[in-house]
Amino acid sequence: MIYLDNNATTSVSPEVLESMLPFFGEQYFNPSSMYEAAGFVRDVVERSRVLISEMLGITGLGELIFTSCATESVNAAIFGVIAANPQRRHIVTTAVEHPAVLEVCKLLERSGFEVSFVGVNERGELDINEFVRSLRSDTLLVTVMHANNETGVIFPIERLARVVKETDPSILFLCDATQSATKLPIRVDGNFCDVDMVAFSGHKFHAPKGVGGLFIRRGVYCRPFLVGGHQESGRRGGTENVAFIVGMARAMEIAAQTHEEDIVRLRYLRDKLEFGILERVPYVVINGAGAERMPNTLNVAVHFIEGEGILYQLSDRGICASSGSACTSGSLEPSHVLTAMKIPFTAIHGSLRLSLSRYTTEAEIDFVLKEFPTIVTNLRRLSPYWNQTNNKPRKNPIGEK
Ligand code: PLP
Repeated sequence: MIYLDNNATTSVSPEVLESMLPFFGEQYFNPSSMYEAAGFVRDVVERSRVLISEMLGITGLGELIFTSCATESVNAAIFGVIAANPQRRHIVTTAVEHPAVLEVCKLLERSGFEVSFVGVNERGELDINEFVRSLRSDTLLVTVMHANNETGVIFPIERLARVVKETDPSILFLCDATQSATKLPIRVDGNFCDVDMVAFSGHKFHAPKGVGGLFIRRGVYCRPFLVGGHQESGRRGGTENVAFIVGMARAMEIAAQTHEEDIVRLRYLRDKLEFGILERVPYVVINGAGAERMPNTLNVAVHFIEGEGILYQLSDRGICASSGSACTSGSLEPSHVLTAMKIPFTAIHGSLRLSLSRYTTEAEIDFVLKEFPTIVTNLRRLSPYWNQTNNKPRKNPIGEK
């Protein structure tokens, strides 16, 4: 199998799995219990917290909370700050956020909050002028993703957070770093020094599904989202997922060690795939081309055919990819990200995401490049927009003036 859906989730790396195993076996204790054996497990959780904190430049005790996933992290951040700061009722976000943020913002809008959804250009880059204009005296929170899960387009978080703090230091800035954590530099004592909260998820970087993190800068008023026991310094109730927390810390550690090499390899393989497709298949465009993008992500729009058709044919050849974000693929709605980028009608439905990991090999990329043109040719043969005689698109396929 060739797995090119690493923005949806990644495989648990063998070293990570090994680090977790003792905590499913003899070290099964509840970290909150009082006996010595539980104390060991408690120390392990705290060592994991220190390790991850050091890698993200977090210095304050209690600033890093372990959660179950990025969806929980962003929900906890957004609902937590609105509960703690009821005087302000305006939120700024972007039109291309993951549903974990977007749907929360829409829900809040329906319950009386005002939300500004800042748009993007055709390359998927944020409209900075619109962003600046959207900030108001009653803005409570700005929530912007670091890297887009569908296109890989990177937003200039450092610059955006600085603009926000220069406009009004009391506006809170949340960054959904789910796709970028371990892949792009994130230091809350450095490039992210104006960011108040950062959300991430282990399963995007070879830790298991079911564990995530939320950084909340000291001094930010944020009510607990999961109310219960005194775990996580009373900021998130629920018995700690010890094995998964250990695994996430180990995964971050490995990513930090292999980062430089991984980035170079991923960029080489992604570019080979991208240029190879462009060379071999006519009427193809790269969504997000020209913008700063994640080195592991390729979103390719194949005009005049359905992305789902390509996915099935790829799947028949053992290749796993996605037609949008993991959560929206499977629905017939065109991607909200590509819609916001105003991708043409004949391309938006033929868009496909191929996302690589450090385990992707060059032989796999070569195999995809060999199969891809045949798949497109086969599907275009069936397309009403394609003229079989001339092997070209029909002049006016959808009858538009
Ligand atoms: N934010 C982004 C940008 C994502 O890509 C995802 C998952 O794809 C999420 C949030 C949600 O992550 P999780 O599955 O950990 O809840």
